[in-house]
Amino acid sequence: MDSSVAKSKRRLEGKVAIITGGASGIGAATAKLFLQHGAKVIIADIQDQLGISLSKSLAEHCPAAANNIHYTHCDVTSEPDVKSLVDFAVSKFGNLDIMYNNAGIVGDHERLPVQDSSTKDFKRIMDVNLLGAFLGAKHAARVMVPAKRGGVILFTTSMVTMVGGMATPAYGASKHAVVGIMRELCMELGEHGIRVNCIAPGTVATPMTMEQVKVDREVVEEFFKSKAVLKDTVVKEEDIAEAAVYLSSDEGKVVSGVNLVVDGGFSSVNTTYA
Ligand code: NAD
Repeated sequence: MDSSVAKSKRRLEGKVAIITGGASGIGAATAKLFLQHGAKVIIADIQDQLGISLSKSLAEHCPAAANNIHYTHCDVTSEPDVKSLVDFAVSKFGNLDIMYNNAGIVGDHERLPVQDSSTKDFKRIMDVNLLGAFLGAKHAARVMVPAKRGGVILFTTSMVTMVGGMATPAYGASKHAVVGIMRELCMELGEHGIRVNCIAPGTVATPMTMEQVKVDREVVEEFFKSKAVLKDTVVKEEDIAEAAVYLSSDEGKVVSGVNLVVDGGFSSVNTTYA
């Protein structure tokens, strides 16, 4: 793994990054790519076994970077957890350069008609997707602003910020609201050299998606391939990770305030999922 990104091409050398929801799917792929690009990475999640085994396997595949990967438990809905996570990154690696607020849930696996949906589920989705993103940004800013080294705050939103008919009202609302947080913080933190951006993935066949749709990965991928503008395009976890590297690196140094859609062109021609 160490050799897959040549040293001269590494774009995050020495940067300290936190990735929430980093034990699985998009977060896990991003942790791997960040590590390959020379970053020091803290994976934060609530799936402790998965997070620990991921960080072990990344360390085994990349002995040179074995000390640069850590798992820590963090429920993003808990402010004490998020505060401790950020403080841990600073005490472990000296500072924080990149805060990737990626943890998210879709809620009930069976999509209910709105009239049957529960307030409890609505609040839970808002807690994880919206409050969690806010707390991550808040505590990142708490250490980034006084450190006066700039920084990058990223959020994973979704294609639902571009098209309808893809998810529940709660999920859609939570991801739109994260774009709102990003726009406000882009202004507020810009004067401190902190860039704030979102990545809006198209459908990726991660565990989250697969639990929902209950069909094979190939079926999901074929559907989106058939709808993509770019011929034969399937969006993979690694494509989102590449976008995260770009937005976190100096190549993206003048990019702030964007909700970068990475969906193979799906949302440019489809106004709804159906
Ligand atoms: P995933 O289920 O593979 O990963 C999500 C991770 O978030 C899991 O490891 C989970 O344990 C973690 N998580 C959930 N609640 C948490 C909490 N309270 N605190 C900390 N961690 C928590 O799914 P994924 O597809 O990789 O999702 C990553 C992000 O991408 C989410 O924000 C999701 O909404 C977004 N997204 C996914 C898709 C897709 O098609 N997969 C599309 C657009 C956006």
